[in-house]
Amino acid sequence: MNEVLPRLHELFLQTLRNYPETVAWNGENINNSGIFYQSAHDLFETLLQNGDNGAFIAKVKETTYASNLTPDTHTFIGAVYAGSAAHLMARGDAVAARRLAEEAVSYSQFDLFAQNTIIKANHAINPAARSLEETEEWLKTRFCMRPFTMLETASTGEVYRCCPSYLPVSTGTFADVEKNGLEALLDSPTAQALRNSILDGSFRHCSKLYCPFIGSRTLMSREEGLEKIQAASLYPEEVFFSHDVSCNLSCPSCRTHKMVIPKDQQDKFDALSEKMLVPLTRRAKSVSICGSGDPFASIHFRNLLINYCRAATKKERKLALQTNGVLCDKKAWDNIGLYGHVSRVAVSVDAAQESTYAIVRRDGNFGRMRENMRFLSDLRRTGEFDSLTICFVVQALNFREMPDFVRWGAELGVDAVVFSQLRNWSTFSPAEYNNHNVLSRAHPEHGALLDVLKDPLLDSPFVNMSDVGNLRAAA
Ligand code: SF4
Repeated sequence: MNEVLPRLHELFLQTLRNYPETVAWNGENINNSGIFYQSAHDLFETLLQNGDNGAFIAKVKETTYASNLTPDTHTFIGAVYAGSAAHLMARGDAVAARRLAEEAVSYSQFDLFAQNTIIKANHAINPAARSLEETEEWLKTRFCMRPFTMLETASTGEVYRCCPSYLPVSTGTFADVEKNGLEALLDSPTAQALRNSILDGSFRHCSKLYCPFIGSRTLMSREEGLEKIQAASLYPEEVFFSHDVSCNLSCPSCRTHKMVIPKDQQDKFDALSEKMLVPLTRRAKSVSICGSGDPFASIHFRNLLINYCRAATKKERKLALQTNGVLCDKKAWDNIGLYGHVSRVAVSVDAAQESTYAIVRRDGNFGRMRENMRFLSDLRRTGEFDSLTICFVVQALNFREMPDFVRWGAELGVDAVVFSQLRNWSTFSPAEYNNHNVLSRAHPEHGALLDVLKDPLLDSPFVNMSDVGNLRAAA
């Protein structure tokens, strides 16, 4: 291993140099571990001569860090696991392949090659789990409007044409808007490439493991999509503003400490409003705020909302609010003037019990959140807005509370209870992530999760299993 890893590292860096376009998310690889694996096939054979999976993982880390194989040590380790997983899969050892592919994703969560190996291994181990081939065949008959009609901003200043957690390819930046204008960004070469990947039926940049529309099999037919895009304009119908990370909480799955952007950053975002945010808002049918923090904790987003609500002459109910619910009370609605402007509210909670809530919603206030949910539920019943959703990221700490969460949703009369997979946003070390990620078959409590997933309450029509759907189908 001491000799093979440096040679692999050189090939890895060569891949990064030759295929820079595959490094699309803050320098993390989404596809290049596949290219790397192909170019280093023989080295992987040598590397994997010792069949002990656990020892192998420890040795790769130890040797890589000891050899100081920089830059990209972290990503490199992920790519070695991804390549090793693919090699083991080709050899027919699906259990070991899955373990290593999951390890790869704990290092590089956007690595589509490693994600696909997990899907392949799951199917090889349990034929009831959907195969990658079946998913790819299904996708050839489907269409997704998102890269044509949706836009999301990120705190890095990157702009995406779908949710970056399942289509992690940046199509441009705020700086591009300053330089070339908004319309050039909306039709950038990368934006066009993403649209082409839907038009050719490959969906090659989409995560088959995490996309909730692929997981729940809810994409429209190809014929319907091809007809709909005739009417699509350059300006997105749906925009998600997620560039301000300010939040009143510091949930461990999202961040390691409380974050509020400094005044100069806030001023920059406020200045961007006229050039980008307001024109997008004016032309969009739906504006979601926000996937990056909390709209009620962000001064920038509060300003944007207040200005929008004051200026909008027609009450078009364009706004979709994503919040942790703690500050979303009557006072905030009154101060911002939200009445008549909101179509949807989604509240991310992740717990049914106060003791769990105290951990997964660090700095939160369970009582206040529940009281505000009552307020929102009452508004929903009066028809003030059209949809109220509560969200739950499944992890080792909370999975036993899934049925109670559904019961609470029914009591509140919500329109949807959404369950989704835990991701590693670099807030967990790979080992911590593995401890939390009960969706992994290697997790000691995975069997208990499968039992919970069999609960008939999860069949309730308002329950959306999104990217947990595949696992439930095989439970
Ligand atoms: S299929 Fe999923 S990942 Fe791909 S563009 Fe649509 S929503 Fe995004």
